[in-house]
Amino acid sequence: MIDSLLIANRGEIARRIIRTAKRLGIRTIAVHSEIDGDMPFVREADEAVCIGPAPAKDSYLSADSIIEAAMRTGAKAIHPGYGFLSENAEFAERVTASGLIWVGAPAASIRAMGLKDAAKKRMIAAGVPVTPGYLGEDQSDERLQREADAIGYPVLIKAVAGGGGKGMRRVDSAAEFPASLASCRREAVAAFGDERVLLEKYILSPRHIEVQVFGDTHGNVVHLFERDCSLQRRHQKVIEEAPAPGMDASTREAVCQTAVQAARAVDYVGAGTIEFIADASEGLRADRIWFMEMNTRLQVEHPVTEAITGQDLVEWQILVASGEPLPLRQEQLSINGWAMEARLYAENPSTGFLPSTGRLSHLKFPEGVRVDSGVEEGNEISAYYDPMIAKLIAHGATRQEAARRSAGAAAGVEVWPVRTNAAFLARTLDHPDFRAGTVDTGFIERHAADLIPPAEPSERVLQAAARAILPKPGGDIWTTGNGFRMNAPPSREIGVEVGGAAYRVELRYGGEPAVTDAGVLFLDGEAWPFGPPRAGYAGGSAGHSDGAIVAPMPGRVIALMVAKGDRVTRGQPLAVIEAMKMEQTLSAPFDGVVSEMKVLAEAQVVEGSVLMQLEGDQ
Ligand code: ADP
Ligand code: ADP
Ligand code: MG
Repeated sequence: MIDSLLIANRGEIARRIIRTAKRLGIRTIAVHSEIDGDMPFVREADEAVCIGPAPAKDSYLSADSIIEAAMRTGAKAIHPGYGFLSENAEFAERVTASGLIWVGAPAASIRAMGLKDAAKKRMIAAGVPVTPGYLGEDQSDERLQREADAIGYPVLIKAVAGGGGKGMRRVDSAAEFPASLASCRREAVAAFGDERVLLEKYILSPRHIEVQVFGDTHGNVVHLFERDCSLQRRHQKVIEEAPAPGMDASTREAVCQTAVQAARAVDYVGAGTIEFIADASEGLRADRIWFMEMNTRLQVEHPVTEAITGQDLVEWQILVASGEPLPLRQEQLSINGWAMEARLYAENPSTGFLPSTGRLSHLKFPEGVRVDSGVEEGNEISAYYDPMIAKLIAHGATRQEAARRSAGAAAGVEVWPVRTNAAFLARTLDHPDFRAGTVDTGFIERHAADLIPPAEPSERVLQAAARAILPKPGGDIWTTGNGFRMNAPPSREIGVEVGGAAYRVELRYGGEPAVTDAGVLFLDGEAWPFGPPRAGYAGGSAGHSDGAIVAPMPGRVIALMVAKGDRVTRGQPLAVIEAMKMEQTLSAPFDGVVSEMKVLAEAQVVEGSVLMQLEGDQ
């Protein structure tokens, strides 16, 4: 059995692996980049080695430094997690050639499944149904166009080396084909260094169904049922669930057996996922589910499978890598209830999902669900790595129960000043069509208007903000004065500033209780800076959490209270903007220094102009 394990990864997956390793009594070694020294995964490992500067190519992708760290610390094995080097066959070979155990798929299987065209050819030979399309060597424009015409539109062009949702173009007509081909090739070269493409019939009403498989070195292969990952944005998974809604027992048996057959065809060992695309226009039918690709590693969404099977997949990986047989036989595995995972990202849905970076000054996760996260309050979301803050995983006896818990969990997320997609997740999980199980990969785009929270505060938020600024004691007039309930509720109008704008709010009885921290209100997964009218309130303007002080509206800078180099404290007024006779004070979102001044007093500014830049105290 492996007794020491180096984790060649970071963040939530590194922590996740460390957790299981510790439970199994295995010594853990973290490797980290120069900027990750303070991250929880580094602290939680028994030992840690700094392997290079922040850019992944100099640290988490540096095979040399990682293997050297393993040698130096006497690690027995390396777990690559997902992403980074996890599907790099040369790295897998180097690890084993160095006398270390690779807790991953055999290099040969990674290679067989690494390129999408080769993988599909292999699957065709093994009798696995694949999406109809063109996988040929002839990559000339003329040939590809001819093949696309023959397949019939819509067609999907895919980079053979593609991954992570990149290098894909849907083409709806022959006329569009040349331009789409050119742009797909450009993206493929830039991202993967390989411009070759394949063509696939674009499946309508597509659902992403994938099957978790596991093999051992004794020739056993089992599946751990399916997951539905149809809720995607730009071909990237956002919400995953297990089992798949609408999957009947015989369809499940067929697709899961196909997955086992696919894994056997490449002598698979360890954890892997067979991804299928389903034409769900008439529900899930076995003859309309095709092999898409195999991911030869642990998958981001593996926790939903763990939740419904009660198994620890990282433990299985370690057992298999140690040469042990799979802990359970197929007939010992069963599905218990329903599970959902929502990926909480540092991004702002209201600005087209722009990534949001910065310090997590306030971070609170909901209770009662599994939260896999790589960060804690005070950590930084940097632009160097994946912007995922956490995965929220909820389990329930039924799909409705799992969805209700997931939605509640997303709504309960509190993050500031980094922006997140929490409210977007909550809205998605609450959406009637999602609850009805009518999902496909176009769901998010189709319902975007319902799912993206409005840029203006909702009435619920205004009520909560107004309530929160009521004078204390006596705080909440509705609960302290019991006489109020006898007749029609009285009204009380007060002014409040929310998200940088002033509002008059007629307080109503029975509003939401406000969860607030230092001038920020958290409700329904949203986060709003608020305060009494015209007062400075903590927090920058929406969408800017990185110390950029931004004009929330077009207007004139009528006062600048600070200059370059000044020290400021959180909440300190920095500038006043006037527009349409309304004044707005902008305050410091955190303690720090004015590192740059970008405007002069009396300047006219447009909405979104950066007035000055603050640098926070480290
Ligand atoms: P899964 O297929 O397991 O659901 P994803 O496809 O979302 O997961 O991505 C798997 C891993 O690869 C994640 O860690 C993600 O951060 C990483 N990843 C995805 N795209 C890229 C990319 N373009 N560059 C680097 N890492 C990526
Ligand atoms: P990646 O390696 O980037 O994960 P995939 O081949 O797994 O690429 O495809 C990613 C996503 O693109 C799928 O989950 C699905 O939503 C969509 N997709 C892929 N192939 C098709 C297809 N033939 N028809 C419709 N949608 C597809
Ligand atoms: Mg995929």
